[in-house]
Amino acid sequence: FRHGHYSEVVVNTPNGPVPFGKNHPVVVVAGPCSVENEEMIIETAKRVKAAGAHFLRGGAYKPRTSPYAFQGHGESALELLAAARAATGLGIITEVMDTADLEKVAEVADVIQVGARNMQNFSLLKKVGAQDKPVLLKRGMAATIDDWLMAAEYILASGNNNVILCERGIRTFDQKYTRNTLDLSVIPVLRDLTHLPMMIDASHGTGKSDYVPSMSIAALAAGADSLMIEVHPNPAKALSDGPQSLTPEKFDRLMQELSVIGKTV
Ligand code: PEP
Ligand code: MN
Repeated sequence: FRHGHYSEVVVNTPNGPVPFGKNHPVVVVAGPCSVENEEMIIETAKRVKAAGAHFLRGGAYKPRTSPYAFQGHGESALELLAAARAATGLGIITEVMDTADLEKVAEVADVIQVGARNMQNFSLLKKVGAQDKPVLLKRGMAATIDDWLMAAEYILASGNNNVILCERGIRTFDQKYTRNTLDLSVIPVLRDLTHLPMMIDASHGTGKSDYVPSMSIAALAAGADSLMIEVHPNPAKALSDGPQSLTPEKFDRLMQELSVIGKTV
């Protein structure tokens, strides 16, 4: 088992290296669920950068429950992410769903996301482990902590030591009020079990924008290294995950609150 004492993962971005983990400021990853068009992704990138985010997130390949839902713009969205990266210098985090797309995704992404639904896609884990870009491994919605750590182990064992773990909520029995149950207790538990840095995604974790600020603050209080926050210029019109997306104004306010806690810069 390759999990050792709490340490760091350093990600190179156009704006310089961004370290995640031990003794480093909290890293904030923000942006829309999906890359919808050039105007919205560039605007969002500029807004989240101005607010202090370090990375822009945005899906090009989207794992949707329904095959009739918006599936992401694929390769053309990767080009838009590259444009947003060039315009702002922000690092890019975007999901790969299929080994066939890995090379294209790795050309644009500074961190490659493996989503909750692919957490145990072992052939994908081996492939992302055999390339150089850091990997963000989201927890499967019904994965135990050991399942999740073993999935990370696949990436480490394939030669890639730069893995960040992201808790994004586990299946809840009460979906009436939150989309998932955000498991913040994993923060101290994982601290005991692994050296890997931890990100908390309160957007997917709660499914409701109103609950994202309090749970993001709670994640920092519990010792998270990083936060993922969905931000959309017009959440009501979003092609995916509008209800859980903050407006840029609400994101500004949250970043101010986080900086009062004193851990984001
Ligand atoms: C996402 O980050 O947009 C996403 C689909 O996340 P998850 O894999 O956690 O559902
Ligand atoms: Mn989403």
